[in-house]
Amino acid sequence: MPLYQTQSLKLYNTLTSEKEIFEPITEGYVGMYVCGPTVYSNVHLGNVRTFMSFDMIFRYLKHLGYKVRYVRNITDAGHLENDADAGEDKITKKARLEAIEPMEIVQRYTVDFHNVLNTFNFLPPSIEPTATGHIIEQIELIQSIIDNGFGYIVNGSVYFDVHKYNTSNTYGILSKRKLEDLIHNTRALDGQSDKKNPQDFALWKKAEPTHIMRWPSPWSDGFPGWHLECTAMSTKYLGDFFDIHGGGMDLKFPHHECEIAQNQAAKGQIPVKYWMHANMLELNGARMSKSTGNYINPAELLSGDNDIMSKAYNPSVIRFFIMQASYRSVLDLTDDGLAAAEKGFHRLMDAISLIPNLKPSKTSSLDVQAWKQKCYDAMNDDFNTPILIATLFEAVKFINQIKDGSATITSEDLELLQSTLNTFVFNILGLVNISKDQVGSDKLTSAVEILINLRKEARLNKDFALSDKIRDDLAQAGIQLNDSREGTTFTTN
Ligand SMILES: [Zn+2]
Repeated sequence: MPLYQTQSLKLYNTLTSEKEIFEPITEGYVGMYVCGPTVYSNVHLGNVRTFMSFDMIFRYLKHLGYKVRYVRNITDAGHLENDADAGEDKITKKARLEAIEPMEIVQRYTVDFHNVLNTFNFLPPSIEPTATGHIIEQIELIQSIIDNGFGYIVNGSVYFDVHKYNTSNTYGILSKRKLEDLIHNTRALDGQSDKKNPQDFALWKKAEPTHIMRWPSPWSDGFPGWHLECTAMSTKYLGDFFDIHGGGMDLKFPHHECEIAQNQAAKGQIPVKYWMHANMLELNGARMSKSTGNYINPAELLSGDNDIMSKAYNPSVIRFFIMQASYRSVLDLTDDGLAAAEKGFHRLMDAISLIPNLKPSKTSSLDVQAWKQKCYDAMNDDFNTPILIATLFEAVKFINQIKDGSATITSEDLELLQSTLNTFVFNILGLVNISKDQVGSDKLTSAVEILINLRKEARLNKDFALSDKIRDDLAQAGIQLNDSREGTTFTTN
């Protein structure tokens, strides 16, 4: 019997502003779409936090036994500098500044994005589609929106008619904004715009002669509006009505609001059952921003090469720090916070390493089954990782008491304790076990990587005796190699 039949998961749905019992549209299956990065610069640490929240959610849903199709897109065209459909395409601008092809920008920062996420031990999504790979689907969507009377064409561009839409639907249903307030609070059009109303948004933009990224369409050579790609790709892979749509809080309006309007206008169907939004990451109590200098990127945080933190932090320590807050709370990144997380992380790892040396007794002084259910209860309460971690630390305390002789455990409970800790710490929170002396030990990592590469060569040469010897000798030394489709990684015990 899959776990989801015995564990009742609740999640906070932005659409209803309530914690709801999670019931997928099709029993046993979950479709989840998360808005991915616009690949025109190194991935922002705040975005890493958002994607990490959904990585943890993906891991837990899979653990519960759901078959999850997780789609996270790459925005490689159409994202303009400003929400009012003005300014340059972010990727085109960077390409112009660096005098290289837009697709070189896309390639460079997609690689950076994947590298950073791999460093933080993310699972790859099931599908990672790109906007430029789905131009035809976007053109078809625009045509349906026009055919249904919600889109209008001006000078080769196509706009979504928000005012018309709002006469038969509710624009603002997700962000709880009212169109009247939006009208009241936006400046009038400056005469340059083709839009009927400032609240309307672009579905297709005619490309200026200098615009490099362009595709043919029935209306003009141009490019799709940013909001459209997510509607096209989410519904292509997950259906016109799917379970979970996630993203950062900043995408709730206008991006996600526009996605709802587009789907409703094109297909007469609200697209998503549960909307989930991950909160912001601040730095030293203020918004992270490159322009104010209150900014640190993932590489600087990991290498220690920055003026903000006192030292380098291991990716698992940073992951542990992020998981100590609920994904729905604002989290403040500070040196003190990371240093405290580092201590906590090592206490947890030390306790896990102690387990194989603990002596079982005839009785247990902790109800391990009840403790295990507490771990599930925490996660079932809208993925409450801070409560989960507090519960994991009850086990840490207990393990240390067993070691001191002030508590006892049966061998059966010891096994259950170990497997439960492994499940929650490594599979669900996605932490990697590293010993204290290994932190910052780049030399060990380099040495093991040399051996991993030698073993890969040996396997390519079909010298399996040598490849097995490298693996077995490393295991003898306490270093386990883990092979997967993405390559070989290692863990130490
Ligand atoms: Zn999106």
